[in-house]
Amino acid sequence: MKEKLVPLKDQRFGCQMCGECCRNRWVPLSLRDIFRMNGVTPIEAFLLIWNEKKLVIDRREWDNGCVFLKDNICEINKIKPLICRLYPVALSEVPILKRNVPYYLKNDKKIYLYLDKSCKGIGKGKKFDIEKILDLCEIIIQELKETSLEKLIDII
Ligand code: SF4
Ligand code: SF4
Repeated sequence: MKEKLVPLKDQRFGCQMCGECCRNRWVPLSLRDIFRMNGVTPIEAFLLIWNEKKLVIDRREWDNGCVFLKDNICEINKIKPLICRLYPVALSEVPILKRNVPYYLKNDKKIYLYLDKSCKGIGKGKKFDIEKILDLCEIIIQELKETSLEKLIDII
């Protein structure tokens, strides 16, 4: 599925369990994501080093799906990567569309939030809880800042 980003406002969302967001995407991982996931699966079963530096979840060849996707359900739902928890919202530290309104984290950091309109759950379910999203974004920014291939190699 091809990502179609629009600014996040007061849209509604209810997951339709189509599994499409778990195919054809490279999901970036923080070091802490990797440790959480390694608690249930060996690193070599899911970690891919992309472009010689990015840490992402590996995909299956036959459907380009995430290795944790089974019958359209995430097998590691409770400990899935932070970026998967945020989806269909996407976070950027710089504006990537025209007419973006910034959001502010508790530490006053300015961020930009987008919604992937290609997700079938947009327009259904409940309105997004922006406070919760901002809290998650704060954790994501912190965890990704602490993440690098070099640090992973040092630790494992
Ligand atoms: S694409 Fe949207 S509706 Fe489909 S599984 Fe992902 S979040 Fe749910
Ligand atoms: S970890 Fe789970 S939610 Fe994230 S892409 Fe894989 S199957 Fe989907």
